[in-house]
Amino acid sequence: MEQINWEVAVDRVSNLGEGPVWDSRNKCLFWVDITACLICQFFPGTGKVNTFRLESMIGAIALRESGGIVAASQNGFSFVNLDSGASTFLSNPEGNRLNNRFNDGKCDPLGRFWAGTMSMTGESRAGSLYRLNDDHSVNVMLTDVSCSNGLAWSNDHKVFYFIDTPTREVVAFDYDIATGSITNKRNIFTFAKENGVPDGMTIDAAGMLWVALWNGWKVVRIDPGTRQIISNIYLPVSRITSCTFGGDNLEDLYITSARSGLTEEELKKQPLSGSLFVVRNSGFKGVAGFYYKG
Ligand code: CA
Repeated sequence: MEQINWEVAVDRVSNLGEGPVWDSRNKCLFWVDITACLICQFFPGTGKVNTFRLESMIGAIALRESGGIVAASQNGFSFVNLDSGASTFLSNPEGNRLNNRFNDGKCDPLGRFWAGTMSMTGESRAGSLYRLNDDHSVNVMLTDVSCSNGLAWSNDHKVFYFIDTPTREVVAFDYDIATGSITNKRNIFTFAKENGVPDGMTIDAAGMLWVALWNGWKVVRIDPGTRQIISNIYLPVSRITSCTFGGDNLEDLYITSARSGLTEEELKKQPLSGSLFVVRNSGFKGVAGFYYKG
């Protein structure tokens, strides 16, 4: 088995680190600490870290083409101006579901922001997946979702990959870029119980899926064609949440993790829980993320 070396990217732990986004214009990595209501920004060139506190739990962010950030938080969709700290509310499709919050989200190849929800009280199938369009209207894309995670689009823009964490499945849909519709759901991979559960996901330039495993101590690379795990990156912490490629050539794999819910005993055994990890010059290459066009 190949040896892939990780390091801690930043001397800062998150409670529930999630949603890494590489910003190629500013050469920095964003991620969120969901339960701490924080957007974090790391500049690998200098080691500098900025944090921005929001009013509510923040599930995911994406970069706007026009600058700034679009966020999916417990309060719904909003724009965040990182220079001024100002937040501009757009809409909350779950304003009547007080036990839900937004979780993972990402932009599609046409620049729409997709983000899904989950129950904060563990209620099954209480969440949905939404699509924030460039005119700020919102469509419901999936319902009966328990914990919306792991969004990715194939490099030919014809397939959408999705994870509803408790199902332990990665699923695929046919994706129509023009209309943004998804149809024909099918299973790509089901994780065995000893692997933990699938959380965040990214896709690389070869079209392979990288899936972070919550309670699984690793990130795996899956070939969606053969439906096999073809690489493993083992980490010193159990709660791996998401990953994305960054760096000048998109060859550094950034991996987020969490401390949330671990006992003191467990934290003693895995003190790096909550760290942002990086596998520099991973030998693999990512694809540039998409900007929100609204
Ligand atoms: Ca997640």
